[in-house]
Amino acid sequence: MTRDDDPHEELRAGVRDLCAAFPPEYFREVDARRGYPDAFVDALTKAGWLAALIPAEYGGSGLGVTEASIIMEEINRAGGNAGACHGQMYNMGTLLRHGSAEQKARYLPAIARGELRLQSMGVTEPAAGTDTAAIRTTARRRGDRYVVNGQKVWISRVQHSDLMILLARTTPADASRKRSEGLSIFLVDLREAIGHGMEVRPIANMVNHETNELFFDGLEIPAENLIGEEGKGFRYILDGLNAERAIIAAECIGDGRWFIDKVTRYAGERVVFGRPIGQNQGVQFPIAEAHIELEAANLMRFDACRRFDAGEPCGAQANMAKYLAAKASWEAANACLQFHGGFGFAADYDVERKFRETRLYQVAPISTNLILAYVAEHVLGLPRSY
Ligand SMILES: Cc1cc2nc3c(=O)[nH]c(=O)nc-3n(C[C@H](O)[C@H](O)[C@H](O)COP(=O)(O)OP(=O)(O)OC[C@H]3O[C@@H](n4cnc5c(N)ncnc54)[C@H](O)[C@@H]3O)c2cc1C
Repeated sequence: MTRDDDPHEELRAGVRDLCAAFPPEYFREVDARRGYPDAFVDALTKAGWLAALIPAEYGGSGLGVTEASIIMEEINRAGGNAGACHGQMYNMGTLLRHGSAEQKARYLPAIARGELRLQSMGVTEPAAGTDTAAIRTTARRRGDRYVVNGQKVWISRVQHSDLMILLARTTPADASRKRSEGLSIFLVDLREAIGHGMEVRPIANMVNHETNELFFDGLEIPAENLIGEEGKGFRYILDGLNAERAIIAAECIGDGRWFIDKVTRYAGERVVFGRPIGQNQGVQFPIAEAHIELEAANLMRFDACRRFDAGEPCGAQANMAKYLAAKASWEAANACLQFHGGFGFAADYDVERKFRETRLYQVAPISTNLILAYVAEHVLGLPRSY
């Protein structure tokens, strides 16, 4: 598809224009000092891109996950890292679909104006890992409040967010019909919580990704911050995870295109043994293969987004899109690093940074094995393996 017949070209061009002010050098410098891209996220917020999913009646643009995914894709394609701000996109879906009219009226206009950020979602726990139903953090009702105790790990962007969606157990697993019942989600106001029952410990990690351990010791949350019905949080979170998978797939597509553009250019220019390295099939084929896989992944990504926006079941497509796109971007990253030779390892080329960034998506937000297990069980009807 050329730029002229892409129905989203106007949206893409708008994001590209903004990203032009934040070139790879900007993200390289932020990465080197392990900082947060404040100026970039501020500019994105001011331009309204992070309010894409908020309905117009609350001051947002009322776009769908398709458009949200394109915004994130373009950031990664321009050499940036949408991981600093993608949380607001997929968390929004949870609040929009399951929040009450009062919650939406209270928070959405302020988020749309850029006064509040909803960048964090606290699900993962050290002892439970991928087995979300095994989480141990509890929220016990006491009068007009819930009191939270427990621990989370790998919770991202907490230091750059005002609000967090928290999953906690409100009914003990042995008193619930199913393990996945008795879990609830809450909107936590981080400005009130940190230092008053909630402690944040940053985790240094391979990617420049602001992520943390959280400790809850008697954190009080007003009962009105419960999202949806008590006990149904697992289902609400799963809904949001499909949006997350489709959006992350789009980011991988953006990464993959960045790697392929970068390595194609380099392989055409770098002359060794008297000819461009890109003239050798040993160099061409891995790049061509990554491109083919990326294009196929992109089709699945748009299918997942379309289904999500139409309110159709999209678990299979969202998972498969995430799997295919993360694999394709990783293949593209490998080819890009390999054919830059030694220069692939030099920070100034941005390849090693983007290589680290795209590697994350094989593990988080859902690991490749768990996608395979999902497809085996829910799509193919094989016995549950875990
Ligand atoms: C940088 C970063 C940011 C993150 N941000 C967030 C966030 O904002 N919010 C949040 O809630 N979480 C977040 N996470 C957590 C992330 O979702 C989990 O790390 C991920 O889901 C994997 O869980 P785990 O690390 O506990 O691995 P485990 O569940 O311990 O699994 C370890 C490995 O074993 C494999 N495995 C486990 N069970 C099976 C099985 N039955 N069959 C086959 N293989 C299996 C997995 O594939 C995986 O490779 C983040 C993680 C990272 C690294």
